[in-house]
Amino acid sequence: MILYNSLGQTKQEFIPHTAGKVNMYTCGPTVYHFAHIGNLRTYIMEDVLEKYLRFAGYDVKRVMNITDVGHLSSDADTGEDKMLKGAKREHKTVMEIAKFYTDAFFEDCKKLNIKRPDVVEPATNCIDEFIHMVSVLLEKGYAYIAGGNVYFDTSKLDNYYVFGNMNEDDLAVGVRDSVEEDNNKRNKADFVLWFTKSKFDSQELKWESPWGVGYPGWHIECSAISCKHNGEYLDIHCGGIDNAFPHHTNEIAQSEAYLGHKWCKYWFHVLHLNDARGKMSKSKGDFLTVSLLESKGYNPLVYRLFCLQSHYRKPLTFSYDSLDNAAIAYDKLIKKISTLSPDGEPDMEAAKPYLNEFNDALGNDLNTSLGLTAVYSVLKGNISDATKLYLIGEFDKVLSLDLTKAQENKSENPVNEEVELLIAQRTEARKNKDWATADAIRDKLKEMKVVVEDTKDGIKWHFEN
Ligand SMILES: [Zn+2]
Repeated sequence: MILYNSLGQTKQEFIPHTAGKVNMYTCGPTVYHFAHIGNLRTYIMEDVLEKYLRFAGYDVKRVMNITDVGHLSSDADTGEDKMLKGAKREHKTVMEIAKFYTDAFFEDCKKLNIKRPDVVEPATNCIDEFIHMVSVLLEKGYAYIAGGNVYFDTSKLDNYYVFGNMNEDDLAVGVRDSVEEDNNKRNKADFVLWFTKSKFDSQELKWESPWGVGYPGWHIECSAISCKHNGEYLDIHCGGIDNAFPHHTNEIAQSEAYLGHKWCKYWFHVLHLNDARGKMSKSKGDFLTVSLLESKGYNPLVYRLFCLQSHYRKPLTFSYDSLDNAAIAYDKLIKKISTLSPDGEPDMEAAKPYLNEFNDALGNDLNTSLGLTAVYSVLKGNISDATKLYLIGEFDKVLSLDLTKAQENKSENPVNEEVELLIAQRTEARKNKDWATADAIRDKLKEMKVVVEDTKDGIKWHFEN
């Protein structure tokens, strides 16, 4: 597989550390609110990546954290803890908020056919691991204590700005709320590993540590959780592009300082979801959630299709008009597939060129829009219905658009069974030249809005559009 790597900013051949195995890490949600569909774009594309790697034969272990402590309003270590903000807003405890929004996140994922990662680890489960990592960083001289907090010293690294095109001024990007300069920092880019002093005394969750009672910084969570479950060598780290700096940059700094060697080979970043005004987020404009889309009558999988129609490395512009277009395309596609007859065995030889087309698309930096084109090639192809259904079923292991679900339901659905039975009786009646019965059945099918077609592959039917 060829993948664009943010480290080096080039397309590279994907070669995992251990042949056949892929260690994959995803920054999970900060569970203080519902997920915005802009964030969910990232999780959809990461899901496609994971499923394609499995499709290509890799044994994938995917780990994701749940941030339930330590993520401050600004990614640059200032402001209030987002979890605490959420708890105050809803007059609940931080842990109640965490539980509620973690469940809500996975509900949304389920609706979007996003697979749950193999390991899901809340940050509050790993306090010992964070403390251990911070202690080692202090011992090795990569960290210092100032004003009660423990900081990472970015000046100890030869190349802190690993993603190249970022600089200290970009720190402002991560700063969304009003910010006060932290005078404890020796260098502007230094970041907090462990807080004991914060201007917000009401921080709810605190733990004992060698540096006093406090709580972890956000960045250390991902480094420690990845090392805990993926070991010392990570193959792919994924996330939204807005996390490349400072979050991922800080993860690399502290992980490599801690481990003493290179940590993660490939960095996969998904671009923003925009609207006409720019990047969409919780704090700007409509707070777009999966539930909101559902309340407007959209199938969540239409949003998944909408995301798959574009390349993950391009910003995607959201509008209801474009979502409507995706809905029409989805409907047509499902209807077309539902007319295919599942009878017979797939022809594996005939399937090969179509599998190659799909592999060429996804294997080339996850080109999902060409992957969708491969579905249309199959539908147009001069191959049997059984082969078409086989191929679309294979592609859907990666695309996860429930493309063959209508087909599978057909035989399980009692209405469909009734239709099948009526068609069989009509055929029988026509064979016996019992035109009265055949006509009566035809009228009954018409009443049920069933369209029957005689094709070279036999009789096919579908419900009226
Ligand atoms: Zn992270």
